[in-house]
Amino acid sequence: MKVPFLDLKLQHQAIRTEVLAALADTYDNTRFCLGKDVEDFEKAFSATLGYPRTLGLNSGTSPLHLASICGGFGPGDEIITTSFTFASSCWGISYVGAKPVFVDIDADTWCISPEAMAKAITPKTKGIVVVHIFGQPARMDEIMVLAKQHKLFVVEDCAQAVGATYKGAPIGGIGDCGTFSFYPTKNLGACGEGGAFVSRHPAVMDHAQLLRVHGSPKRYTHTEVGFNFRMDGFQGAALNIKLKKLAGWTARRRAIAAQYRAGIKRSDVQLPVVPAYGESVWHQFTLLHPKRDDLRVHLDQAGVGTEIIYPGPMHRQPCYASLGYAAGSLPVAEKTSATCVSLPIFPELTDAQVEHVIKAVNAF
Ligand SMILES: *Cc1c(COP(=O)(O)O)cnc(C)c1O
Repeated sequence: MKVPFLDLKLQHQAIRTEVLAALADTYDNTRFCLGKDVEDFEKAFSATLGYPRTLGLNSGTSPLHLASICGGFGPGDEIITTSFTFASSCWGISYVGAKPVFVDIDADTWCISPEAMAKAITPKTKGIVVVHIFGQPARMDEIMVLAKQHKLFVVEDCAQAVGATYKGAPIGGIGDCGTFSFYPTKNLGACGEGGAFVSRHPAVMDHAQLLRVHGSPKRYTHTEVGFNFRMDGFQGAALNIKLKKLAGWTARRRAIAAQYRAGIKRSDVQLPVVPAYGESVWHQFTLLHPKRDDLRVHLDQAGVGTEIIYPGPMHRQPCYASLGYAAGSLPVAEKTSATCVSLPIFPELTDAQVEHVIKAVNAF
């Protein structure tokens, strides 16, 4: 039996007719940049997931850039963030000339450790970029206590966690702003690039909205140096259809994760921990094994596709060498990167395929 790590074609075959009809309508009405499809999507995203307002953008990196500007980050500021993430989580910090301060993660959820964060706060600390990694919410209560004490602007990178909740509240609405990616492989993927920005502060939303289209409150008047971060109409149209399926897809990811957690029985494997405070949306199902490279070869021979997400933590990336983090400086992030392997988890997997993966892991 073959179990690919991810097969996007299955999802897109199932909704092909519906999506192509919507794209044709967008085409025929030339709603190419922002426009009604994007506005409809913004409203539906807010209503479905529980945000006061949403801005549709051209990627998941752009909202992180906007977040840094809205947070007032700049040269001389230190922004605390997690090292165990996709690179883009840190880009917003670097784009505005602020300094990323990488701290270690919790050993069970692989999200940023509030205790490590507390130790890294200095008079220069201006903000925090939290990442809800693999769809698992970070410990927001502890993070928000620190933020309040030290007057820090909290950015939640929700790129992997659309629909996840922390103590019943939608992630992204707890900190000062939240950012989403609709890259095709994400839980809610566009047919191309896309992203979104949310904030519970109306003034932050207004600022981000101004920056999204050339800092222009009125045609040919520019009150600030802005960007072209518009979502295109085709993406809004496709996302409107896909958003309606998201709850079902998330339920299916949760069922697969439950099947893995019940079926994988090895004392040498660390399974993802599910804390009582949050409901993960399982963007990845990752486990740790001391011989993960051998495990990957074994799974490959059994027809099971796997990935290493992420093989190198950010504090050890060449682009941040000048920050001077030595090997061993963030031991939990480094150990997690050295031992992690992600199993297939996408809604179209069959129970039999999941069972095949479980048997293959147990037989290693
Ligand atoms: C995918 C991702 C992003 C960036 O999204 P793009 O749409 O590719 O720009 C940011 N942060 C995390 C954690 C991601 O997984």
